[in-house]
Amino acid sequence: MELKEIDELIKAVSKFPGLGPKSAKRIILKLINNKDEIMKPTINALANVYKNISRCNYCGALKSLKEECNGYKNCNNLQKKFSKICVVENIADQWSIESTNIFSGYFHILGGTISGTIDKSQRQLVDSLVERVKKQNIEEVIVATSATVEGQTTAYYIEETLKNTNVKISKLAQGLPVGGEIESLDDGTLFSAFKNRVQI
Ligand SMILES: [Zn+2]
Repeated sequence: MELKEIDELIKAVSKFPGLGPKSAKRIILKLINNKDEIMKPTINALANVYKNISRCNYCGALKSLKEECNGYKNCNNLQKKFSKICVVENIADQWSIESTNIFSGYFHILGGTISGTIDKSQRQLVDSLVERVKKQNIEEVIVATSATVEGQTTAYYIEETLKNTNVKISKLAQGLPVGGEIESLDDGTLFSAFKNRVQI
């Protein structure tokens, strides 16, 4: 294409997961052809998320910048007290687990796997997990990381870190397909892996 603006937009949208240049172009055409109905509300919604949403550096959940991290399953939830924390790699994993309705408790989102060197924000999130377990009288930590080498290394790291707290630690049941990422599992598989979780 010859229009610089369009080229730049195609480049940006092509970086979205699951999209290549071809589907990016289709999306952009749709936006251009529906400037008021689709493009404008999308721009506004994106700007609002950019300005107002961030990740909590204590539990890793998404939160509003204007408020405490007090969503239903977030760390600062004062309405409901849960006794379990589920540790996941990404927010998408939390959403998958939520959609199975098998877990009722807090989430702790690491923001990726931990292998080799641990970066500063992950170190902070691991430390805050230990703190949550102690402060919130948590009875069980369910480590729901992927069945990949990185996911299992991460699970081992979490187990080692929590060893001294005496909290019950469990892992999703075997039977997860090897290499399986939590967010890409179907609800049934995830449900039974969760239900049949094993204590470490
Ligand atoms: Zn939080």
